[in-house]
Amino acid sequence: MTVLTVAEHRRGELRPVSLELLSVGRLLAEETGDEHHTVVIGGDVETFGRKLDREGVETVYTVDEGEEFNHDVYVQAVTQLAEALDPSLVVMPNTVNGLDYAPAVASDLGLPLVTDVVDVDYGERLTATRELYGSKTETTIDVHAEAAALTVRPGEWPAAEGVNGSSVEPFEVDVDESAVRSTVTGFEEVGGGDVDITDADVLVSVGRGIGEEENLDLVFDLAEALDATVSASRPLIDNGWLEKDRQVGQSGKVVTPDVYIAVGISGAVQHVAGMKGADTIVAINTDPNAPIFDIADYGIVDDLFDVVPALIEEFGG
Ligand SMILES: Cc1cc2nc3c(=O)[nH]c(=O)nc-3n(C[C@H](O)[C@H](O)[C@H](O)COP(=O)(O)OP(=O)(O)OC[C@H]3O[C@@H](n4cnc5c(N)ncnc54)[C@H](O)[C@@H]3O)c2cc1C
Repeated sequence: MTVLTVAEHRRGELRPVSLELLSVGRLLAEETGDEHHTVVIGGDVETFGRKLDREGVETVYTVDEGEEFNHDVYVQAVTQLAEALDPSLVVMPNTVNGLDYAPAVASDLGLPLVTDVVDVDYGERLTATRELYGSKTETTIDVHAEAAALTVRPGEWPAAEGVNGSSVEPFEVDVDESAVRSTVTGFEEVGGGDVDITDADVLVSVGRGIGEEENLDLVFDLAEALDATVSASRPLIDNGWLEKDRQVGQSGKVVTPDVYIAVGISGAVQHVAGMKGADTIVAINTDPNAPIFDIADYGIVDDLFDVVPALIEEFGG
């Protein structure tokens, strides 16, 4: 029996969730005493394969089929590899792509599927934790099965580290072309925006404390001084002040930057769900009781209209 994790890439880059899944896989393999294997499907599999060589990974399987994500190829590749390895757990990313193929894989393999998992534990058997009611409560699911499939929420685990010397092996998939009913014709960002807040190392995130749309210039000036990207809480998106691509949170994007500067953001659970994985969180807020301070590494209790100009002067050069 093994633990099998499935990597993800987009536009020639391995996505951060691929390395996070390796941490989940390693944890589960340690708890079950199984081996941990991972697979990358399509694209520059040789380069991706080398990047997936991390501590705890026994074998990185590469499936050289296609350049971009294709539902039908992924379903066949993951299913055939799982049939060969007989994994006790198949762990996939809870992303747009992951949610596209994971249910079909689970169905073909006859496995129960738990989606959007934020924590796992393997005692006698698998338990998986999910969040409910807008991240206000957690529920733990006790999986009564010999084997199971999971999709794991990005940003919940650290990226796996430590080069290991895993063996990187091609896996030949017998692709049934008659079952490939979709073709990738191109890639277009939803909303046509050119900002990907999920890739940013430093985010200056702005909330309702900014008061007026005109005041956003201040936040963009700070982002420029820090070579950062601007993101936001939901009310600013709902107001139409910033495009939806920049929304952090439960109904926005999950981000995992090195530094997250929350400017005038209270720290509602639905917002925190999207940014709690940041390495270092800095909060600027006039209210010392704002919940954002519960998760902040550094807190500045002051008026953002005093603090942000001072930071721009300090870092702007
Ligand atoms: C189903 C559902 C999904 C949701 N999804 C999301 C989501 O994805 N992302 C998200 O962000 N929200 C989401 N929300 C909304 C969420 O519940 C909060 O309403 C929202 O996050 C609050 O945004 P905020 O912190 O910017 O505003 P507020 O809660 O209004 O906080 C503003 C903060 O600014 C501070 N402030 C005011 N003036 C200043 C000043 N001059 N200087 C410094 N600080 C100042 C205040 O003390 C306050 O703490 C969702 C809600 C629901 C019900």
